[in-house]
This record gives sequence, C-alpha cells and structure tokens, in this order.
Amino acid sequence: MSINYREVKGRIHSIESFGAVDGPGVRFIVFFQGCPLRCLFCHNPDSWSFTDGEEKTAGEMIDQIVSYRSFIQKGGVTLSGGEPMAQPEFCKAILTLCKQEGLHTAVDTSGGVPLSIAKDVIDTADMLLLDIKDYNDDDCVKLTGKSNNNALEILNYCEETNKRIWVRHVCVPEYTLVEEKLEKLAEFLSKFKCVEKVELIPFHQMGMYKWDFVDAEYQLKDVEVPSNNMMDKAKEIFTKHGLKL
Ligand code: SF4
Repeated sequence: MSINYREVKGRIHSIESFGAVDGPGVRFIVFFQGCPLRCLFCHNPDSWSFTDGEEKTAGEMIDQIVSYRSFIQKGGVTLSGGEPMAQPEFCKAILTLCKQEGLHTAVDTSGGVPLSIAKDVIDTADMLLLDIKDYNDDDCVKLTGKSNNNALEILNYCEETNKRIWVRHVCVPEYTLVEEKLEKLAEFLSKFKCVEKVELIPFHQMGMYKWDFVDAEYQLKDVEVPSNNMMDKAKEIFTKHGLKL
C-alpha cells in the first residue's frame, strides 16, 4: 500500500520562513517539537516535550513551504528542532514532498536517535547538518544526557553513502572549547570525505530565560561566552587539519 505523505502527522514547535544560518542559501526552517537530549547549553528547552507544540500534517507544511518558493528556490528547506529524526515518518514525509517540489532539503540533527531509525530520513534528505556535541563519550553524557554513539554511527553511515554533511559543534568554555578536545575532534573529522565543512558555534546565554519554564536547572549561568580570540584559536585547529569552516 503506498503512503499518502500529505496525511502523515507530526508536531512542530515553530517555523522560520527566511533562515540564513541553517544550511546553504535562504531556507524555510521547520522546527520539530520534541528532543531526547538535554544539552546543558540548550537555548530552546521549550522544544523538549513531545506533547507540546502544534500538530500538523505534512501536507499543511508543504503548502506553507511552497508559498515561499520564490525566496527559497536557490536555498531550500531545513528540518530542525528539537530533534526532527525523533519523528521519522513525519520527517520523511515532508522531505519527500519537498523533493517532489524540486526543493533542496537538509536535516539539522543532533544524531539523537539510533541509525536504524535515522537511515530512511538520511537517505531521503540531500544533506545533514550534524551536531557532534562532544567527541569524548563520557563528557557527551554529562553535557547532553546521552552518549554520542548514535551521532557517530550516523556520521559513518553518511561516509558510506556519500551523504553531504556540515558538522556543527557548539563551543562552550570549560566544556567543549578546550584545546586538546578540539584537536581530537578535528583530527577525527579530517578522515571523513563526507564532511564538507565544520561550523563552530559560539556558546551564548540568550536562551537562559527559557529554562524558567521547564522543570530543569540551568547550570551554565556562570559560564562566559567565548571571545572572538578564543573562537579564532578554535578555528585555527580545524583549518590546520584541512577542514573547511
Ligand atoms: S539537541 Fe538541540 S534542542 Fe535538543 S537539548 Fe540539545 S540543544 Fe536543545
């Protein structure tokens, strides 16, 4: 029985119709509701719950997306979150409808679900924006509440299947913005042909107020945002290993 992708339902947190930082070109961003991770630096804790947000069909989403076609024709559509791959059928349905409309697609993922669930989504998308939260697994558990195993398996699968990837890494002083750790990550990533570029994202405090609305304590109040100089040094490590930024 063939699937009517337009009827597949899911929950979304919000949309952004002219995104400029989540993939190539100007993009329509769909932020999915629900995330299995609990990153200490999360600036969208309101996207964690799988029951909040708004229920939509993929058909409703694609109708909204194509109404912006003239703005995103040279860019595309990015599914972000929350964790889009945690709603794999909805994710795949929107991606498939976008492909039918000739729109470029990207999935911005923390690699927070097993590869067995992510595979179908990866195969359907044109590219991934993959967060490697912390290359050291113990530190990753402390930082996000989960192992980095799923993200690394997804990265390996993308290498096998030649899926284009931009790796994203949030630089948090004392946690991830640590020279030795960045060296190890850069050396590791430099072996992957599928990694087209690395985006180093400076930690910021702009989402701190949102933690008042969830049942969790914000632990990074006293962490300073990285200076330009600190970010420049981090970038040098990646370029030294031949990675594009
Ligand atoms: S993966 Fe993203 S949405 Fe989920 S907790 Fe981490 S920063 Fe927040």
